[in-house]
Amino acid sequence: MKSLGSIRRSFAPWNDPSARPYISFENVTKVFGDFTAVDKLSLDIYEREFFALLGGSGSGKSTLLRMLAGFDEPTSGRILLDGQDLRGIPPYKRPLNMMFQSYALFPHMTVEANIGFGLKQEGMPKADIDARVTEMLKLVKLEQFGKRKPHQLSGGQRQRVALARAVAKRPKVLLLDEPLGALDKKLREETQFELMDLQQSLGLTFIIVTHDQEEAMTMADRIAILDKGHLMQVATPAEIYEAPASRFVANFVGNVNMFEGTVAAREEASVRITGASGAQILVENAGDSAPGNTVAFAVRPEKIKVSSKRPDGVVNAMEGEIYDLAYLGDMTVYHVRLDDGQVVKASSLNSSRVADDQLTWNDRAWISFQPDAGVVLTQ
Ligand code: ADP
Ligand code: MG
Repeated sequence: MKSLGSIRRSFAPWNDPSARPYISFENVTKVFGDFTAVDKLSLDIYEREFFALLGGSGSGKSTLLRMLAGFDEPTSGRILLDGQDLRGIPPYKRPLNMMFQSYALFPHMTVEANIGFGLKQEGMPKADIDARVTEMLKLVKLEQFGKRKPHQLSGGQRQRVALARAVAKRPKVLLLDEPLGALDKKLREETQFELMDLQQSLGLTFIIVTHDQEEAMTMADRIAILDKGHLMQVATPAEIYEAPASRFVANFVGNVNMFEGTVAAREEASVRITGASGAQILVENAGDSAPGNTVAFAVRPEKIKVSSKRPDGVVNAMEGEIYDLAYLGDMTVYHVRLDDGQVVKASSLNSSRVADDQLTWNDRAWISFQPDAGVVLTQ
């Protein structure tokens, strides 16, 4: 398979064998009573990385962050930061700060006082605090709002105050637990880009917890996918999307079609897969699959073509009926029920105003895809 790198920038220390991780979870387990919240998890995060922990509710994301911050200790295993074992080091002595979803701003204090609070506690001289607070207000574009109280701000502004306060002490690492959860969709999207700019301009390592796959895909250099305390995959957004390592990851991120079957033959990276109905597909990106294995070929809807006739020269084509159709303006989503009963999702971009192949409900139709349109999954 072609390498799917970080699109956003050439930053990719995880591919550099000489790069040393900044944060390492080594075989970390966290048990609450008889419940294992994090199970033998190992993970490396690099300096200046924007890293996302993505998983459903209860998958162990916050527990990982709390252990890194020092609010909780691992039951077993180690967490290293810059080579130092963090066990026993209290939260305030760790070079990191955490921003919670609730923001926890002090309601009776002005924005300035909120931002400067931690610095004052540390005993920083007043003139230095004032200078730092001014700098932070500028950073989050709230110069005009320093004298206001939190209740005189919008949700997005409060979120930025919390962010300014979290970075005022210049931590090396900022931990963000669902930081945009309280914002509406449009503001969330704007704030995602602001967070990315902020992380770049401060040169910090960000670790963000989210259950929102789009949010993780938009912001992160790499994403760790968690399920029930297990690490399912760590990779760039493009790799997670185009080369998921398992059915779980393929289903968790984006829409996907799974062609289940048995490997009938393998030649180099190509395999022939026989489905339950006897239909065969010939595909690439065979991974570690071998003849006899039960596998799935995972292919995204936009890689599947829908047409009224079988296209010439395609290897993989199946016939069925348009079972559902949604016109979304920029694209059309088709659900095609194949003759073996499987419903396949296909999306096509409406790049011209009039489609040349007008398909509608109950029409007979063909779906087709290239051998390299997806990946073969054994797990
Ligand atoms: P997430 O942030 O991914 O939603 P958490 O890390 O908060 O999940 O929790 C993972 C699991 O551990 C959940 O099932 C949760 O109920 C459990 N858990 C978390 N903290 C505690 C605790 N202090 N005591 C008992 N169970 C806990
Ligand atoms: Mg959580």
